[in-house]
Amino acid sequence: MPSAIGTSRRSTRGTVKVRQLHTLAELAEWRAEQAALNRSVAFVPTMGNLHAGHLRLVGQARQVAPTSTGSVLVSIFVNPLQFNDPADLARYPRTEEADCQQLAAAGVDAVFLPAVSEMYPDAGEAGTGLQTAVDPGALARIWEGAVRPGHFSGMATVVLKLFNLVQPSQALFGEKDFQQLQIIRRMVRDLNLPVAVVAVPTERAADGLALSSRNRFLTDAEREIAPRLYEALQRTAWQIQQAAEPISTLLEAARAALQADGFTVDYFVWCELDHLQPRQNAGPGVLLVAARLGAVRLLDNLRVAV
Ligand code: AMP
Repeated sequence: MPSAIGTSRRSTRGTVKVRQLHTLAELAEWRAEQAALNRSVAFVPTMGNLHAGHLRLVGQARQVAPTSTGSVLVSIFVNPLQFNDPADLARYPRTEEADCQQLAAAGVDAVFLPAVSEMYPDAGEAGTGLQTAVDPGALARIWEGAVRPGHFSGMATVVLKLFNLVQPSQALFGEKDFQQLQIIRRMVRDLNLPVAVVAVPTERAADGLALSSRNRFLTDAEREIAPRLYEALQRTAWQIQQAAEPISTLLEAARAALQADGFTVDYFVWCELDHLQPRQNAGPGVLLVAARLGAVRLLDNLRVAV
């Protein structure tokens, strides 16, 4: 009997299960089934350890691919190619069982959980063994890209591989990682990829902190301070709109306030939307921030219409 939650199944113990695809062959078989049924595929790539932000992407995916005509596929893959710090990769939280339960309850149709050896069959001591990679250009070298060299190339490369494997009609990405979103949009345009990129607004805790898998590493004291990042974004956005002072002065004041609160600010900048180059004046733009609080790097941003 068709269920309201796609191809998820209720087991004899009452828990809802989601179809899990571990190999490229299993994914190809599932993809062929969707094609045979004339169903489109909406795709949500993640690194797992799912929270309400990811589930917002899943909810949006279900809207663009309603069960009557489409299927929702979520991938969970902690991509070694986009980690430039081995310690960060080693400690990245892996909670696949709990993730699959959440995805089943959210009504996704299938989850792709490949091993590193599936995505990088030539992987070895020296790395992934890939000879070919995406170079997202200047967009990948500023801000987050300057702090994490190679990160965006590794991210874009795995996303392109996943697009080729999944062949989605739509792919959903969070505005939380704004630079990543712009790089994906640009890659899709530059390489004529047949996929529509759907941007999903940032899901926040009640106090404004953007949800992130890394927030769990904040101490209680750091968690108290963390919402000041979003407060600084909101305050600065308002000040830019008021045009009371030069933008460079406003940005400097925001950085100083965060430093005084205990953050180490990597960047707090005001940029135009397409190339993320610094803006000197008001207008449509985005405030981007990355700041460290203890061992945790927090990223956030705020778009400003005027
Ligand atoms: P990740 O698992 O961190 O690679 O994130 C997978 C996707 O979820 C990316 O498109 C992120 O931008 C998105 N995402 C992460 N956190 C949030 C959030 N708080 N709100 C909305 N989307 C998010």
